[in-house]
Amino acid sequence: MEELVKSESASGLTLMEVEKPKLGQRDVLFQVDRTGSCGTDLHIFNWDSWTKKTILVPLVVGHEFVGRDLYHSEFQKNKL
Ligand SMILES: [Zn+2]
Repeated sequence: MEELVKSESASGLTLMEVEKPKLGQRDVLFQVDRTGSCGTDLHIFNWDSWTKKTILVPLVVGHEFVGRDLYHSEFQKNKL
């Protein structure tokens, strides 16, 4: 699967192929249909002073999206 990653402490982002994560009891897997960028993503892209003291790399970027729930564990089903 491809993810947009801040892979190093410098400006820019990298679209890279990464392994699908192993899902734990508290995880949910979404198929992302659409995503957007916001001010936080721009800070991360530019690697500005706020980002340097706030973000640890590597980091997968993106927190505003629309998608479908492909999997949630029995633990999660009991919480819904
Ligand atoms: Zn945001």
